[in-house]
Amino acid sequence: MQYKTGIGYDIHRLTEGRKLFLGGVEIPYVKGLLGHSDADVLLHALCDALLGALALGDIGEHFPDTDPQYQDINSSRLLKMVKALVDKGGYKINNLDIIVITQEPKLGPFKKLIKENLCALLDLSVEAVNIKAKTNEGLDAVGRLEAIACFAAVSLIKGG
Ligand code: MG
Repeated sequence: MQYKTGIGYDIHRLTEGRKLFLGGVEIPYVKGLLGHSDADVLLHALCDALLGALALGDIGEHFPDTDPQYQDINSSRLLKMVKALVDKGGYKINNLDIIVITQEPKLGPFKKLIKENLCALLDLSVEAVNIKAKTNEGLDAVGRLEAIACFAAVSLIKGG
C-alpha cells in the first residue's frame, strides 16, 4: 500500500469585530481571526497538509487571497475542495493530527466538537482524527493574545 504524508502550518492575527472559527466550529470569544476568508487557521493548516501530501503546492496557490470569490468564504468549503483533490488522486485519508496553539480561549471544551466536525467534513471515523490544544506559555505573538497558530499532519493511503 502506498502512503503519503503532509504537514501544514498557519497563523492568523486576532482582532476585534470578527467571529472566531476553528475547525469549522464557532468558538465564543471576544475576538476573531483576521483574514480574507473566515480565517479558520485550523482548516487552513489542514488544507496545506493535505495539499502537501498530494504534492499539489499550497492553499495560497489554489485559493489566492486576491481573488474576490474567496472573500469571507467559509473555510469548510475550501477543505471540501481539497478533499475532492484527495479523492481525485485516488487517495483516502488515513489519519490527521492537529496542534492548535492559542493562549486564549482555552480549547478543552471545544476539542470534541471540532473533532466531530472534521470527521463529518472529511467522512472520517473518530479514531482517524486527533486534536491537541496548547498555549504558548505567554511567549511571542500567540502568548500575547495577538494570534492563533496551527500545525497539521496527515497521512494518506493510495486506494484505501
Ligand atoms: Mg490562513
